[in-house]
Amino acid sequence: MNSAMRAVVPAPGDPRRWRPTPLIGGAAAVHAGALVALAASPATWPWAAGGVIASHLALTAAGLWPRSALLGHNWTTLPESAGACIAITIDDGPDPEVTPRVLDLLDAHRARATFFCIGERARAHPRIVEEIVARGHAVENHSQRHRHDFSLTGPRGLRREIEAAQTTLGEIAGARPLFFRAPAGLRNPFLEPVLCALGLHLASWTRRGFDTRTGDAALVARRLLNGFAARDILLLHDGHAAQDAHGEPVVLAALGAVLRAAAERGFETVTLREAIAPKLG
Ligand SMILES: [Zn+2]
Repeated sequence: MNSAMRAVVPAPGDPRRWRPTPLIGGAAAVHAGALVALAASPATWPWAAGGVIASHLALTAAGLWPRSALLGHNWTTLPESAGACIAITIDDGPDPEVTPRVLDLLDAHRARATFFCIGERARAHPRIVEEIVARGHAVENHSQRHRHDFSLTGPRGLRREIEAAQTTLGEIAGARPLFFRAPAGLRNPFLEPVLCALGLHLASWTRRGFDTRTGDAALVARRLLNGFAARDILLLHDGHAAQDAHGEPVVLAALGAVLRAAAERGFETVTLREAIAPKLG
């Protein structure tokens, strides 16, 4: 491959060109059309304002729907080439109490997982991040601070937050993240251009168990396994983990149930970068 061709097809982790989705292109066209209509005939202002408001509502709704691809590409399942594999993704860590137990459980099942770590937590517990990597798992970007107003942040603030986590996690884990997951999965239209510039790909999930809010591990496992199939991307949490009636983090029993179900079905667990990165370059 010559260098000109390489420039056309970015390798995983390289910056790539942002292309607006039809929804974003449509919203931009509505704004431009409203300006033209107002200039030609100021009396059209109610229509122009209505169009602009409707397009903003559509963009906001798309950002509140974590699994939507309306604001940019979004991995919700593994690609077909993954065959009989599934991906377990574990968010909001590292946590000094829960993450080591999650790692032992994964080892006991010879399973691999993708940890979407928070930069500040990784900085506070770097040894745990090193342990995640040493045991064969992948560390990806879940923002530097996991702020609840992340989706209300403008392009500069988003870039600061994501770039800080890229630097933190890259330094500690020894490899820069290739995937980003938004706090609570909530986004806005400025996110995808930032991810393109930083060479990151958005990943959400096929199903989640709501294990930060539900203290019943069996219910969390049922949610995760309802429709369980090859190429699933499942979401659990080692940080912010809810506890059951005995004070046990529900992620442990729920993850155990998922790993047993995967073994019964003959599914292998892979990291997102193992399954998807070869498709990106
Ligand atoms: Zn999170």
